[in-house]
Amino acid sequence: MTRTEIVIIGGGPAGSATASGLAALGRDVVLIERTAKPHNKVCGEFLSVETQVQLRRLGLDPSALGAVPIEQVAVYSSSRSVTSALPFRALSLSRYRLDHALLQGAQDSGARLKRNAAAKSVTPAGCGWNVLCDDGETIYGRHIVLATGKLGLRGVDDSRDGSLVGLKMHLRLSPVARRVIEGQVELFFLDDSYIGLELIEDGIANLCLVLPCATVAWLGPGWPALHVYLASVLPSLRERLAGAEPLWDKPLAVVCPAGGHLHRERGLAIYRVGDQLAHIPPFTGDGLAIALASAALAVDHIRLGRPPDVYLAAARRLTAVPIRLASIISGLARSSGGRNLMLAAAACAPGLIGTIIRRTRLTLPQRDFEAD
Ligand SMILES: Cc1cc2nc3c(=O)[nH]c(=O)nc-3n(C[C@H](O)[C@H](O)[C@H](O)COP(=O)(O)OP(=O)(O)OC[C@H]3O[C@@H](n4cnc5c(N)ncnc54)[C@H](O)[C@@H]3O)c2cc1C
Repeated sequence: MTRTEIVIIGGGPAGSATASGLAALGRDVVLIERTAKPHNKVCGEFLSVETQVQLRRLGLDPSALGAVPIEQVAVYSSSRSVTSALPFRALSLSRYRLDHALLQGAQDSGARLKRNAAAKSVTPAGCGWNVLCDDGETIYGRHIVLATGKLGLRGVDDSRDGSLVGLKMHLRLSPVARRVIEGQVELFFLDDSYIGLELIEDGIANLCLVLPCATVAWLGPGWPALHVYLASVLPSLRERLAGAEPLWDKPLAVVCPAGGHLHRERGLAIYRVGDQLAHIPPFTGDGLAIALASAALAVDHIRLGRPPDVYLAAARRLTAVPIRLASIISGLARSSGGRNLMLAAAACAPGLIGTIIRRTRLTLPQRDFEAD
């Protein structure tokens, strides 16, 4: 059996950032990540200013990794479209590069990485916890940080609604479409679904969308059926995707909840970070910023010897308002009446989209921005 002070389960942004912070303080950390090598992940790949600030605090410069600037947002429904400047300069970078750099950062800080092994269960043991991995190894840790994203774990399960599927495909767009979307994120809203399109590094476009499970089951797993479906539902999307070359055989997929979700502790003394702590509806929220901010908060609480329920109360204070607001906006966006109302209001009041974007971000302490 391996013994350590802190076991972190999940090497996505939340787990890697927690591991980096604790290892940099000289704490003994084992970080378990089930995948064997860098990989793509379902995500819009949009880095808000809050995400960028926190990445820089971890010593990562997204631009040096190839991130491209995004300065405006174009929103489309079947009947209207509105374009607006973003209230900050966003960046766009593949999760392949971002997650790999964060995991590497954790190792460089001194965390021990156990890769290509999944934690199967967590059980109380003495003053700490035993984590059983699927390669048969058991790791004992005094503290557990759960950072498995949307995936649950035996012993610490958290049942959630999973009525939507997030899908993602990297594409090489036609030169015309590429020129049109350069420097902007495009959001296409339909009943029960939304679609985001933006350029990432190396001139590649990331198409990311959320569809009801039933629609995905009906379409099947391949790209051609999805492409035909998307081209048929919105003329603006048909134009963008004309002549686009998919870079994978089929899109990546992950089941996700329709609304926001903020974890309520049920007596288990573990620290939950990232999507395990809180899920904010994609395209209206700031999931990566929440992942990194909850990691920083967990590091502080573990450093100060504060228990998980104190951490959870602080994390809830940080995330509750943006999650509530993003859930309302995403609910409105999924009904045709709500969508039309929002787009009509945005056409009359050009600052409205920027205000909504600002309000669904995390409020980080001002010192974070000053340090940047
Ligand atoms: C469709 C969609 C679009 C989005 N777009 C954006 C966006 O543009 N910008 C943004 O800021 N946010 C976006 N988000 C949200 C963002 O992707 C998440 O909030 C973020 O990935 C959460 O990070 P995490 O580390 O908590 O989880 P994850 O990134 O999911 O990482 C979890 C890690 O844990 C590992 N793992 C899981 N189970 C185990 C186990 N049992 N043992 C060991 N390892 C395990 C996984 O392999 C994974 O690497 C989007 C989400 C969706 C669904």
